Amino acid sequence: MNNTPHAPVTVIGLGLMGQALAGAFLKAGHPTTVWNRTPAKAAPLVAAGARSAPTLGDALGASPLTIVCLTDYDAVYELLGANGVEPDPTTPIDTNRIDTTLINLTSGSAGQAREAAEWAERRGARYLDGAIMAIPSGIGTAEAVILHSGPEQVFAEHEATLGALGTVTHLGADPGLASLYDVAGLAMMWSVLNAWLQGTALLAKAGVDAATYAPFARQIAAGVADWLPGYAEQIDKGSFPAEVAALETDARAMEHLIEESEAMGVNAELPRLIKAMADRAIAAGHGGEQYPVLIEEFGKP
Ligand code: NAP
Repeated sequence: MNNTPHAPVTVIGLGLMGQALAGAFLKAGHPTTVWNRTPAKAAPLVAAGARSAPTLGDALGASPLTIVCLTDYDAVYELLGANGVEPDPTTPIDTNRIDTTLINLTSGSAGQAREAAEWAERRGARYLDGAIMAIPSGIGTAEAVILHSGPEQVFAEHEATLGALGTVTHLGADPGLASLYDVAGLAMMWSVLNAWLQGTALLAKAGVDAATYAPFARQIAAGVADWLPGYAEQIDKGSFPAEVAALETDARAMEHLIEESEAMGVNAELPRLIKAMADRAIAAGHGGEQYPVLIEEFGKP
């Protein structure tokens, strides 16, 4: 029923992201109720066909599916009334009971997501935690990746509606998973970008501009990405035979990168960090194994 193409939906929080989310639901034909602390932000959405809820309680009761997208989890609790904090008396709601499916797309940690799931459950709400891996202008296109975690049947019930926002995925029952995937994705993004910047800085010293290096860098990054499934198999098995190269061979190449960076007057912090991790793994006796054995270093506090 709720998964029909035009199921009603409520969006609470109309910042840059909340406006984009509500706009995408409207565009897909969903009757959309909106609410924001600063009511003026609802105006463009109302002009596009949204209903502005007069109170927060009205917003929470308006639809079987309610998306919350605020600055952070403190704002969510402050607004919805947790830990003894009562909401604004001008927007009364029954803080003990929330009769909707809440999907919290506010960014936060896995721990915050798990706490929020328990908090929502105590109030009778069905709850999914989510993470948006997109910018507002991408919302409503397939490029917008939106991750969800929590009870699978809750996701299944609303999957078609959520599909208006982008490419939506359910990761598992643990509500913290969406946040963890989110930060894992950030780790990948910054590591790739930093590696690219390292090479770009080195080549700039030889007069090669960034645009000339970029296609080569892209090819290398794509090639390395192709190694991931095989390397993941080694990690899952806990066995790291050196089929391509031994870690000590990699470590010698790392030394070369450090020396070249220093010689060219380029920042060598990143290569030194990478080498330090490899050195620790080699000292622990893993020099003859393959690169993913470094997972043991990454798995430590
Ligand atoms: P934003 O433009 O700063 O909007 C913040 C929203 O939170 C506004 O609706 C604001 O209401 C509301 N808010 C803050 N504190 C509140 C409180 N105590 N009570 C009630 N409402 C409160 O931020 P945003 O860009 O929309 O981001 C929202 C969430 O999406 C964040 O968790 C962010 O990390 C995540 N996200 C954003 C992007 C992006 O590119 N923008 C990408 C991925 C994820 P007022 O309008 O009344 O101030």
